[in-house]
Amino acid sequence: MKIIEPTVELIDDIDGAQILRKLERCGKVSRQSKLGDAESFVRSIIKRGHESVLEHVSLTFHIICDRAIMAELTRHRHASFTVESTRYVKYDELTVIKPFSTPDGSDFTFWHMMRDTERNYLFLVEQGVKPELARAVLPLCLATELYMTANLRELRHILKLRTGNAAHPQMRVVAGKILDILREKLPVIVEDIKS
Ligand SMILES: Cc1cc2nc3c(=O)[nH]c(=O)nc-3n(C[C@H](O)[C@H](O)[C@H](O)COP(=O)(O)OP(=O)(O)OC[C@H]3O[C@@H](n4cnc5c(N)ncnc54)[C@H](O)[C@@H]3O)c2cc1C
Repeated sequence: MKIIEPTVELIDDIDGAQILRKLERCGKVSRQSKLGDAESFVRSIIKRGHESVLEHVSLTFHIICDRAIMAELTRHRHASFTVESTRYVKYDELTVIKPFSTPDGSDFTFWHMMRDTERNYLFLVEQGVKPELARAVLPLCLATELYMTANLRELRHILKLRTGNAAHPQMRVVAGKILDILREKLPVIVEDIKS
């Protein structure tokens, strides 16, 4: 059994300046205005709420999170997802995402709980139960690999909801990692989003 931290990776090799130029080109068609400072233009359309222009660019993230966070992420209907299947994957050992705390705050207690869960799952599979049925005993903290593709408008929407105080602590970790990547690669897109 392995206990890991959630991870987020942007799988697209992007050029931020090129993306801003593309958005400027698409956005300026409406007024047939001349190209100029792409960054200022993008900042101004976000400020004015003219965010449909941001839909012209999509990014794909490779995310490893737990099943519960995956279920929350996939509620975002404008994003596209491909998710590791607990029906078709037969686990030889369980990989779980470390929770923030267990009742006594001990990793040792959590490890024992998960080891019992792993034993139950492996026992069922050994008895001939198909993985798609044995999965019933898998925990919500099971590590899950997925790809999420979303356009920049939807990413902004997701980040606003999922980095806020009302979001689940582990969702905030995952959303925070997406935000960090965008702050590095496309800062103007997320500069108004505080976390
Ligand atoms: C803190 C928090 C707690 C939550 N708790 C619960 C809970 O207890 N139970 C629960 O079931 N869910 C819960 N959710 C999930 C929530 O209800 C939404 O399903 C989820 O946040 C997806 O957001 P969305 O609908 O805004 O967006 P997206 O699917 O990302 O869509 C983006 C936007 O597009 C528009 N849009 C999308 N689809 C439609 C449509 N069909 N019609 C009209 N406009 C549309 C809306 O403006 C929407 O905001 C929670 C979410 C958060 C952030």
